[in-house]
Amino acid sequence: MSSSEIIENTALLQKYQSLDQRGKIIAEYIWIDASGGIRSKGRTLSKKPSSIDDLPEWNFDGSSTGQAPGHDSDVYLRPVSYYADPFRRGDNIVVLAECWNNDGTPNKFNHRHECAKLMKAHKDQEVWFGLEQEYTLLDKYDNVYAWPKGGFPAPQGPYYCGVGTGKVYARDMIEAHYRACIHAGINISGINAEVMPSQWEFQVGPCNGIDMGDQLWVARYLLQRVAEEFGIKISFHPKPLKGDWNGAGCHTNVSTSAMRVPGGMKYIEAAVEKLAKRHLEHIALYGSDNEQRLTGRHETASMTSFSSGVANRGASIRIPRSVAKEGYGYFEDRRPASNIDPYLVTGIMVETICGAIPD
Ligand code: ADP
Ligand code: MN
Ligand code: MN
Ligand code: MN
Ligand code: MN
Repeated sequence: MSSSEIIENTALLQKYQSLDQRGKIIAEYIWIDASGGIRSKGRTLSKKPSSIDDLPEWNFDGSSTGQAPGHDSDVYLRPVSYYADPFRRGDNIVVLAECWNNDGTPNKFNHRHECAKLMKAHKDQEVWFGLEQEYTLLDKYDNVYAWPKGGFPAPQGPYYCGVGTGKVYARDMIEAHYRACIHAGINISGINAEVMPSQWEFQVGPCNGIDMGDQLWVARYLLQRVAEEFGIKISFHPKPLKGDWNGAGCHTNVSTSAMRVPGGMKYIEAAVEKLAKRHLEHIALYGSDNEQRLTGRHETASMTSFSSGVANRGASIRIPRSVAKEGYGYFEDRRPASNIDPYLVTGIMVETICGAIPD
């Protein structure tokens, strides 16, 4: 795709972005919809907020997003965190909101509420997460971005962390997203091109407790917004292409305060033992269509059995070599798919590793 096909004229927009806002700020409220997508709408605030409590509750028409019936369609937006807006810049902000029903119950797709309770209950263990979000770029016709029309690129091999024409695609878009995340205050820890061409990864973390889900959702929002400007679609499907092409995951790296200090390995081993006992309960929350990805091939473990190992990328749980060598640190759960709700995954993770599991 050539740059002449870029659909938004963001260069022209710059002229208006620098207009004086007369002290007003624009808050773009974002929320999670019924299909794991993100929706957003903007409003004007009379002044810059100094804390989350300054941000008003709002609402939207839930009958238009599949989140409420037409006869009782208002869904409430309760702000939970906010970030600098890299698109509007200045004091403008992006506000992440939880969805609540009219009757005072959390909306069906509000998984944050339960997650926050679990994080609070196990606060003393100071759980950190680091998520590796993999995703695939598509063009506007849903073909894998920059792949030959009606054909396939050369087999996998040169693309992972690739450098050079024909090995890497859309680096401009990926770089723009990276910068946007840093501007917004997202704890983005890195990016890399993935094994399948036009598949990429960014990492967010370590983040404490509930902050992990919040930051990943905002990073996903920023990704989709940046991609709009480049005329690219983002797919979070765990197996966008059948055949000998890697799927997309969201490896979940985890540690408690006890794991992070010398002697921590025995706590990592205890967590792995607990995880083994709840394999299927975890799998149930680890993303839809994940069975297409967890085949035991392409750097995955089979979905039907639990395994763990040091430096083993074919296991359910990998303990990084450096962690095994030092005797403390963190572990990686490789099972979650790219389309997970991070609140569900981090929630069940603390429930399992921080709680007492009955035999
Ligand atoms: P991989 O080698 O599996 O590709 P990455 O470098 O892509 O690993 O991602 C590792 C992730 O682990 C990062 O998001 C990082 O922030 C996170 N991480 C590092 N240390 C910890 C820790 N102690 N607890 C939880 N997450 C951690
Ligand atoms: Mn209207
Ligand atoms: Mn990685
Ligand atoms: Mn990866
Ligand atoms: Mn990984």
